[in-house]
Amino acid sequence: MSFQNPVFIPGPTNMPEALRRACDMPTLDHRSSLFADILQPARAGVQEIIRSDSAEIFIFPASGTGGWETAITNTLNPGDKVVAARNGMFSHRWIDMCQRHGLTVEVIDVTWGEGLPADRYGEILAADKAHEIKAVLATHNETATGVLSDIAALRKAMDAAGHPALLFVDGVSSIGSMPFEFDSWGVDVAVTGSQKGFMLPAGLAITAFSDKAKKAVETAGLPRCFFDVRDMAKTYANNGYPYTPAVGLLNGLKLSCEMLLSEGLDNVFARHARIADGVRAAVSAWGMELCAASPDLYSNSVSAIRTPDGFDSTKIVTHASEVYGVAFGVGLGDVAGKVFRIGHLGLLTDVMALSGIATAEMCMVDLGLPVTLGSGVAAAQEVYRSTAGAMALAA
Ligand code: PLP
Repeated sequence: MSFQNPVFIPGPTNMPEALRRACDMPTLDHRSSLFADILQPARAGVQEIIRSDSAEIFIFPASGTGGWETAITNTLNPGDKVVAARNGMFSHRWIDMCQRHGLTVEVIDVTWGEGLPADRYGEILAADKAHEIKAVLATHNETATGVLSDIAALRKAMDAAGHPALLFVDGVSSIGSMPFEFDSWGVDVAVTGSQKGFMLPAGLAITAFSDKAKKAVETAGLPRCFFDVRDMAKTYANNGYPYTPAVGLLNGLKLSCEMLLSEGLDNVFARHARIADGVRAAVSAWGMELCAASPDLYSNSVSAIRTPDGFDSTKIVTHASEVYGVAFGVGLGDVAGKVFRIGHLGLLTDVMALSGIATAEMCMVDLGLPVTLGSGVAAAQEVYRSTAGAMALAA
């Protein structure tokens, strides 16, 4: 007999059985009309989930990192200047990718745990009278620190500076879990992956391009081949693909979009907020703090929890895995050893969340941290009891 606990990493997430089955499908000919019935509804579903009427959706057999590369190589030229804030490991990696592609990155270094500073972006853009900066990079939800940033405020700062740079937003751990407004935020390229809000295995880089971004594609000089959206656009027009598609994953994506949209996006977001509230109540009952510096930055998809100074937080993750067979996320980069992360996105119920909170408590007590067994569970139970029924109604 093998037993399987839910995972509490911030992606890949737990998967609904229906999505697992949708991915595990018999082979079909991707050059036949059967493929169109998978590809086009999946693209239309993504467009609706990011709340756009006009974005063109390009989906690659890759992961979120491939989405980053798609954004920059399809729109920029060698040596172009971009501006990006670094407030965690993922924003750092995107910056690193830009530098490796020969772009000049104006980095705004931010204390990890803080959000993206719209005002600093605005100042830099306002000072760039020659409009040398071609793109603004923003990590909507920094998965390493559990920090959600305000993209509407960033757009406002760009507009106030009267700057024409493109806006690229990493929505890898926000899209499908928290509101994402492609059109009203004036996003030019959005990037996500299949393994977070869409509750699928990793394997799809999902990107969305605005009309303005598509114009930039025509003049972009960075080398690209596998991630060339021009090849995608050409083949999509004939319901095809430039190479062999990951048909099962695309079939999963089609169903995932149907599931999220039939639940209703507002309900999906409210469900994530409720589950996250319970986790946060547990964290304060433990007398601990989140890495996110203030409540307006709290992410509803992941909480990064600071452990006491001198304690190696990685021990909690290792212990949970080895002793209880449960997965939490380790701290990454600057916060390695200082935080552990509870992922609370995708397929998760109150009861599943309570089991994760209970496991974290057992680990912390086993490892000698001053936490009382049951304290976090009780605090989360109060949150879930007071909103009981919301889950059943949404089902
Ligand atoms: N961006 C964010 C915010 C992420 O959380 C991740 C992965 O966790 C990535 C980008 C990279 O995505 P992938 O690991 O799918 O390449």
